[in-house]
Amino acid sequence: MVAYFQPDYYAFRNQFRELATQRGFALEAHTLKAKGPGDRDLTIDTAYLGPMITDTSGPARVFAVSCGTHGTEGPSGSAVQAQFLNDMLDELTLPDDGAILLVHAHNPYGFAWVRRQNEDNVDINRNFLEPEDPRPTSQNYRDVYDILNPTDLTDETTAEFVEKAWALVDKHGMAWVQQAFTEGQYEFPRGVYYGGKERVESNRRLSGIYGDVLRHAKEAVLIDMHTGAGDYATYEALSRHEVGAPGYQWLCEALGEENVKYPAGEESVMTPTQGNVTAGICKENPHADIRAFSCEIGTFEGARMILAERAEGWLWAHGDRDSEQGKAIVAEVGECSNPADPDWREKVLDIGDEVITACWNKLFS
Ligand SMILES: [Zn+2]
Repeated sequence: MVAYFQPDYYAFRNQFRELATQRGFALEAHTLKAKGPGDRDLTIDTAYLGPMITDTSGPARVFAVSCGTHGTEGPSGSAVQAQFLNDMLDELTLPDDGAILLVHAHNPYGFAWVRRQNEDNVDINRNFLEPEDPRPTSQNYRDVYDILNPTDLTDETTAEFVEKAWALVDKHGMAWVQQAFTEGQYEFPRGVYYGGKERVESNRRLSGIYGDVLRHAKEAVLIDMHTGAGDYATYEALSRHEVGAPGYQWLCEALGEENVKYPAGEESVMTPTQGNVTAGICKENPHADIRAFSCEIGTFEGARMILAERAEGWLWAHGDRDSEQGKAIVAEVGECSNPADPDWREKVLDIGDEVITACWNKLFS
């Protein structure tokens, strides 16, 4: 077994709580209304180390690492947090004006149930929007809705989906198809990549959690751990700042230009989206220079990912998670975001070490 990779959300959460407690962090557990398997509680856990935060004072520099924005991607981010707590902290010096905030599972429901989206079927990384922000649904998504969100999941409907999807790839290219499927939509509450009508509970809580810690900050780094897009066991830092903006420059200096991409502005493993959690945290805390990115670690090819998400979307809306078919679908969607391959998992820990060390050194230099 690769260190820090646990079998499920609850084992990951225990590991996080134990290691953070041993290291002297202050822990808080924010309980959600939704429940996990076996009717167990679901929490957004935070671990904080740094100066006390009052109305008049708090840390000037904040280093934050989060996981599980997409539930299925929680394991690797949680493992990276555990490695940080257990193996890396001894080598790092936290200055007097600095603080660490670790957030365990932006989307605990998805982490616990092994699904990308949350209890409301919302992709919380398409949901962190202000009430006045537009919530567009592209005609392209409408056109593929029926094949992407079948009411019957059979070999026939899947074959039909594959055929139509490849026809679209031939006509428009892979990037267009990836965009149409995954950019997020605000019209079909039972469809995949749904962004929701209003902010979901996780995102309302996260606004407060980050806002409290950042209230006196002048500078911060937010590293949100993701998996899926990109080449197997490599990473891309998906900048939440436009090409050339100070935050983008900062990330290039910390991580190397070749590793940083702005999805809306240049060729990237990820298509442009809106309602991103860490981008929203930046907007809500304009007094601080926040450098935010998703650390996206690649797994398998896009076609396999889409098929897995499509099947899980069907399972959530129409199927039985405890059936044989349900278990196979959950296993596949889990594998797509958290491959069992020990080499991949070792690489995740290496990438986590590299990215955290580079950002830490730049923030606290
Ligand atoms: Zn993700």
